[in-house]
Amino acid sequence: MKSTTEKPEVAVTLGEDYPEIRESVRRICADFPSAYWRDIDKHEAYPTEFVQAMTASGFLAALIPEEYGGAGLPLRAAGVILQECHDNGCYAAACHAQMYTMGTLLRHGSVDQKIKYLPLIARGELRLQAFGVTEPTTGTDTTKLKTRAIRDGDHYVVTGQKVWTSRAEYSDLMVLLVRTTPLEQVTKKTDGLSVLLVDMREARGHGMEVRPLPAMINHNTTEIFFDELRVPVANLIGPEGKGFRCILDGMNAERILVSHESIGDAKWFIRTASKYASERIVFDRPIGMNQGVQFPIARAYAEMQGAEMMVRKAAALFESGLPCGEDANIAKLLASEAAWHAAEACMQTHGGFGYAREYDVERRWRESRVQQIAPVSTNLVLAFIAEHVLDMPRSY
Ligand SMILES: Cc1cc2nc3c(=O)[nH]c(=O)nc-3n(C[C@H](O)[C@H](O)[C@H](O)COP(=O)(O)OP(=O)(O)OC[C@H]3O[C@@H](n4cnc5c(N)ncnc54)[C@H](O)[C@@H]3O)c2cc1C
Repeated sequence: MKSTTEKPEVAVTLGEDYPEIRESVRRICADFPSAYWRDIDKHEAYPTEFVQAMTASGFLAALIPEEYGGAGLPLRAAGVILQECHDNGCYAAACHAQMYTMGTLLRHGSVDQKIKYLPLIARGELRLQAFGVTEPTTGTDTTKLKTRAIRDGDHYVVTGQKVWTSRAEYSDLMVLLVRTTPLEQVTKKTDGLSVLLVDMREARGHGMEVRPLPAMINHNTTEIFFDELRVPVANLIGPEGKGFRCILDGMNAERILVSHESIGDAKWFIRTASKYASERIVFDRPIGMNQGVQFPIARAYAEMQGAEMMVRKAAALFESGLPCGEDANIAKLLASEAAWHAAEACMQTHGGFGYAREYDVERRWRESRVQQIAPVSTNLVLAFIAEHVLDMPRSY
């Protein structure tokens, strides 16, 4: 077993860390009450005003180093920002990519690329909200993706299709994973993939078409079609053929950050369910007096507390520069399940009113479910733990 559990030198903070950040995020969220989110959901719109407020506050630039105009905060602080949004009824998933998709550029981009893009992203003048990896025919089997980029002088010519590319209609840039060397010509299947930074403002109508993909939640997802789109070679991030590694490098940070969103969701559901259970009178007494009503909420709370400890641990390991693959994956698994169990308890507690839009439960219930599928599905997390922690044979 290669567990990373024993890390005595890493301290995990308890309680309300980053209180000023929390307070400031709460103030922003107060301007975007549930009526705002219901309306956005109803019209499948983009929460532009919320994203603008988060951008103006500098929170979306939390992870960009100060030398590039960002706040240069630790990962945990960024996680707290996302968690507070979700805990306070907002949907940070509408803009969380601006926070972490830039990590690929930060870690693997050239100095010129960083100087060119990061300050603009930090100021919110450039939106980097789109991350194109998933394809319709290959799904989780990323190394088989079919979008091809063929070198032609100073450009790559890109042809193929992506699916589930979130927020593409509201982004200026996209981090795009493509195959530059055919699978048959590489010795390792993870080789031959490359990362391109696509300027979507130039690409639209010139070899790139973005089509909205209506979905169960308002996540502004799209399908993107590439037909001989020309991308300058200068926009290659990291070495050609090593793009899979560049993307993989960011996975732990991404998993830890979205886990914070799940913890925020779980807290919202538990608070909302407890309040309703205490106030709703049926059979002349609060429904929360029944153990059948209160126990699922209490259990969800216990699960959330356990998951939150794991999220904090994963973030602490990440910040210490220690291996955290195991912890980031477990945090993602436990947090997404804690959120879902809390969502279920909240829905059941509300009975028929759980279905009434004005209570927000059904919308948030739909939204919280996605964390078990995206950005990585639960099975793939379990496969990682089985193979990389428990030394069992690779299952796929
Ligand atoms: C709302 C939303 C937003 C998204 N945003 C983005 C985005 O911005 N960018 C992007 O690139 N992608 C995005 N995705 C895609 C998401 O990352 C994928 O849906 C997810 O990775 C799973 O891929 P798939 O849907 O093709 O499922 P598949 O690969 O078809 O898998 C289907 C099911 O089979 C299971 N499965 C497959 N193979 C195995 C195996 N070997 N062992 C065990 N189980 C297996 C999976 O766990 C899953 O449950 C988004 C998806 C959604 C729903």
